Amino acid sequence: MFVVMQLEDIWKKNEDYLFDEIFKTADKKDGRVVGVRHFTANTCTCKICQAHR
Ligand SMILES: [Zn+2]
Repeated sequence: MFVVMQLEDIWKKNEDYLFDEIFKTADKKDGRVVGVRHFTANTCTCKICQAHR
């Protein structure tokens, strides 16, 4: 779960530019990011959860 832990770290530090870099290179299918997922409450508004809606 290295990737997940790394993402958590970036979120905590609010390093948006780094997050965008990772998000950009994540697997995409039909415009949705399928390679990165964030498992949390349905109300989460982070970029990953928004992309999965
Ligand atoms: Zn989220």
